[in-house]
Amino acid sequence: MQSFPSMAASHVVVSMLLAAVCSAALVLALVAWRRANRKRKGKGMAFHAWHDPLTGLPNRAYVMHELNGMFAPGERPSLAVLFIDLDGFKAINDIHGHQGGDLFLRAVGRSLRQSVRERDIVARFGGDEFVVVLRRYSGEENLSRICRKVLDLVSRPVQVGGELLAVSPSIGVAVAPRDGHDAETLLRNADAAMYSVKETGKADFRFYVEGMHELARERMALALDLRQALQQDDIEVAYQPKRCLRSGQVRGLEALARWNHITRGDVPPTVFVPVAERSGLIHALGETVLRRVLAQLAAWDIEGVPVSYVAINLSLHELTRPSFVESLAAIVALSPVDPSRIRFELTESSQMRQPEESVRQMHALRDQGFALLIDDFGAGFWNLGHLRELPVGTIKIDQSFVRGGLHNDADRQITEAIVRLARKLRLETVAEGVETADQANWLRDLGCDVGQGFYFAHPMPPAAVGGYLERLASGLA
Ligand code: C2E
Ligand code: CA
Ligand code: CA
Repeated sequence: MQSFPSMAASHVVVSMLLAAVCSAALVLALVAWRRANRKRKGKGMAFHAWHDPLTGLPNRAYVMHELNGMFAPGERPSLAVLFIDLDGFKAINDIHGHQGGDLFLRAVGRSLRQSVRERDIVARFGGDEFVVVLRRYSGEENLSRICRKVLDLVSRPVQVGGELLAVSPSIGVAVAPRDGHDAETLLRNADAAMYSVKETGKADFRFYVEGMHELARERMALALDLRQALQQDDIEVAYQPKRCLRSGQVRGLEALARWNHITRGDVPPTVFVPVAERSGLIHALGETVLRRVLAQLAAWDIEGVPVSYVAINLSLHELTRPSFVESLAAIVALSPVDPSRIRFELTESSQMRQPEESVRQMHALRDQGFALLIDDFGAGFWNLGHLRELPVGTIKIDQSFVRGGLHNDADRQITEAIVRLARKLRLETVAEGVETADQANWLRDLGCDVGQGFYFAHPMPPAAVGGYLERLASGLA
């Protein structure tokens, strides 16, 4: 009976020992598991810290880290940085939602990866900005070849939500050691070069040269001044008559935006319209011009000045803004002027690569009662086959053909072909930039309907239009 408690005691000791061993094992296992888990998490954290979750590509922090490493004291690496921004990507996001935009960005990431070697870095900097770091490159010729490859691969259409979409990249290039000895400077200079591509038509690449920052600053200042001019209603409109080449009668007028700045003087639309497009001010500019034109037409109606229609320039840039047509219709609804007295002159642009969307918007404009006209025809990308499907009543032959038509065979033949085609499609033709009587006669004999140019009249302030029409009616102009 005595042993009983001692047996019980030894049991207790054993089980205590066992428990201790077990819990020690448990603690050890726990520690090991925690350690492994931390390691795993650490790895995950490093991946997240260095990578862009959307494309899986390295991110800005990674590029800075790598570049800083390459530029360690004593190192003078020879490398190139490509700063890449997509042209018109915003429209894809606006129209196809973020899901569509994400799909597109992943595809761009893949195309970029395919354009360069394994050892080069392809990173997403954020938004629609990508950076490629080429470790070692053999001369500018080789770099240009790589840039062309990037342009080609990234511009290829991508299937998004059953539609083929494409945008082009604008690429700025800076090389070390010439353009900088540190990560910051190189990236800043590549960015400035990219910006300079954007300014002059996009869809291209350019090497950094000194002075690009100053230019960019000047353009920024110009955009600020333009914003102010729009707020203060300082943008005026000039009107250029369009005349029937047979009867000489005025068919309508083209509205051309004018900006006279206190210190800059007259800033031409060829300068401020691109600035407006890049800074997003193009919508405000378009609405300002439309409001002015409507008010002017109403005033001419009251004064008895017989203007049947005014043509307003629109860039396809404006056309892709969602709710664009509704906002125009809302402005016209507030005016007594019928929308059929407004014609929109659409200039194609190479960066606008969403033909389906543009055509949809053109039909919407037409449904609102506006008339449409294709501007600068022959100079760009409007495809002749396409013309039949577009809701347009007029095409305007580009100035360059009118100018060259009398001396240059190719220009003459193109002009003749355009007029013939337009007649077949029952479209009216306008020739712009008519500067001489010879040109006017040649165009009339070809069968072109309307002429516009310095030969007939320069663009004039609205107050001069009534007098011009009167002089014309009395045979003096
Ligand atoms: P555009 O639509 O092709 O307009 C014709 C341009 O040629 C105008 O230049 C006009 O003044 C000029 N021009 C007219 N007749 C002749 C001629 O006989 N010879 C020559 N050499 N030129 C002639 P402007 O007013 O400087 O406008 C330039 C461009 O700016 C326009 O080209 C148009 O694309 C754009 N623009 C002007 N106003 C607006 C606007 O309100 N909105 C938009 N989006 N663009 C505008
Ligand atoms: Ca025009
Ligand atoms: Ca033109």
